[in-house]
Amino acid sequence: MRWNGWGDPDRATRLPDSVVGLLRELLGVRPDPVPSVPLAEVAPPPPAPAVRALTEIVGPGGVLTDDETRIRHTRGKSTPDLLRLRAGDASAAPDAVVLPAGHEEVLAVLDRCSRERVAVVPFGGGTSVVGGLTAAGDGFAGVVALDLRRLDRITALDAVARTATLQAGLRAPRAEALLAEHGFTLGHYPQSYEWATIGGFAATRSSGQASAGYGRFDEMVAALTVATPRGTLTLGRAPKSAAGPDLRELVLGSEGAFGVITDVTARIRPLPETRRYEGWRFPTFAEGTAAVRALAQDGPLPTVLRLSDETETMIGLARPGEIGAASGDGCLAVCGYEGRREDVAARRAGTHAVLTACGGEPLGDAPGESWAAGRFSAPYLRDALLDAGAFAETLETAAFWSAVPRLADAVRLTLSRELPSSLVMCHISHVYRDGASLYFTVVTAQGDDPVGRWRRAKAAVSDAIIGAGGTITHHHGVGTDHRDRLADEIGPLGVEILRAVKDRLDPAGVLNPGVLIPPAAG
Ligand SMILES: Cc1cc2nc3c(=O)[nH]c(=O)nc-3n(C[C@H](O)[C@H](O)[C@H](O)COP(=O)(O)OP(=O)(O)OC[C@H]3O[C@@H](n4cnc5c(N)ncnc54)[C@H](O)[C@@H]3O)c2cc1C
Repeated sequence: MRWNGWGDPDRATRLPDSVVGLLRELLGVRPDPVPSVPLAEVAPPPPAPAVRALTEIVGPGGVLTDDETRIRHTRGKSTPDLLRLRAGDASAAPDAVVLPAGHEEVLAVLDRCSRERVAVVPFGGGTSVVGGLTAAGDGFAGVVALDLRRLDRITALDAVARTATLQAGLRAPRAEALLAEHGFTLGHYPQSYEWATIGGFAATRSSGQASAGYGRFDEMVAALTVATPRGTLTLGRAPKSAAGPDLRELVLGSEGAFGVITDVTARIRPLPETRRYEGWRFPTFAEGTAAVRALAQDGPLPTVLRLSDETETMIGLARPGEIGAASGDGCLAVCGYEGRREDVAARRAGTHAVLTACGGEPLGDAPGESWAAGRFSAPYLRDALLDAGAFAETLETAAFWSAVPRLADAVRLTLSRELPSSLVMCHISHVYRDGASLYFTVVTAQGDDPVGRWRRAKAAVSDAIIGAGGTITHHHGVGTDHRDRLADEIGPLGVEILRAVKDRLDPAGVLNPGVLIPPAAG
């Protein structure tokens, strides 16, 4: 992973000249962008001594305090995170990176850190885009990033129930490779797939590109094991239960504030016999939205279902591998089908009938296969945009269908007002019977103080989202970025409930302080 960008450095990409020209002409991007500070010149503050005692639990090789490792565990992968690192700011670096080898070691680390008042940031793939890895270390004797990479095995697989117990630090591609050896898949493909982990997916309620077919990650979770400063929580005795409120739901989305998820028993599916992705064109986003809603509500449902708006279609971001190539007008929808051959054939035929009746024009396999080939490329494109002096960031929300058009307009208008000379693009990324998630990408010139400008724009957009009836986040999570909006989402009493749970599970308050739960007033 690039320390100041995304992904495999060998896959770094360059923007076509046509796109660079467009950025300069249309958005006023300056031709002389400030380059990133080299890694060797970034100096995090000296590590606090309190963290060294953790070697008694995890061994000397399990506590890393070298600068590079600490820098690589500083913040996550939002654009402001990357811009701060590119500017050489590693002031938020943890004092140490701790690598437990199993659940018992996690318990022991949490116990020791609670007694020594050392803050603990659970660290999976480090792909958070909402400040979920930036703990408030003030008042603590130190901050450690608890990197779960050593918890990387499948410990059980029940082919009859179709469940597998996956350790939390397993990265998604390895989880898929291990499951594939047994003929199974999770089917969870977020855009961060290459780096994100099983524990991170559960802790943030992640949603993958194939959610129409496989569901969100939280729907895949049958059971969890959680290490807390108060001991172990083992949740999920049966697929469903009437034994009171479902505490699995309390852990899903808890973003490391209640405990460390050490394994997840996930619902798995047989590997698909076949996969097929196709493109459709709709004259307008409104007509495309109506078509996608028809599928979501009355079926049949493809495995992948996405609809780009006119701007995203025109720019070609719907197919990141072909950015800059002419994409035509209207709105591109991608429909993907995965599963048994006859099931794919039936769903595909049914989908064709619905989309045709809704005014869609079939574009064949090429746009769909092109989307599939480039489905994890967009984050590499962001690095190229940053290198070129542009600012690119994303945000997401969801609402009931009746509010979706209003919500889309409100976010577009607010972003365009707050960031004049910007490109604002949107797609429907996940669908449900009752609503959909909208995913926005904004590209503008970095200019002066890009992080401050984005913070102000994001605050205005958050107001617009709440005002238009949307959720503050559909799948990125709360982190620190959305924390102060949590009361808008669940009300002050809801926040009090979460605070009470945290107080009970984490009495010393060492787990990811400042993330998810707003501080109590006064
Ligand atoms: C380029 C890019 C594309 C993305 N695309 C998507 C997408 O398509 N869909 C989507 O849902 N998200 C997406 N994300 C967001 C991110 O990948 C997800 O939030 C992901 O679920 C985080 O997994 P991770 O392993 O990287 O967790 P991290 O980023 O390491 O951690 C995320 C949060 O969970 C906590 N945490 C991590 N592991 C554990 C654990 N075992 N126990 C308790 N707490 C834990 C952390 O403390 C932190 O608060 C994207 C991010 C990037 C940078």
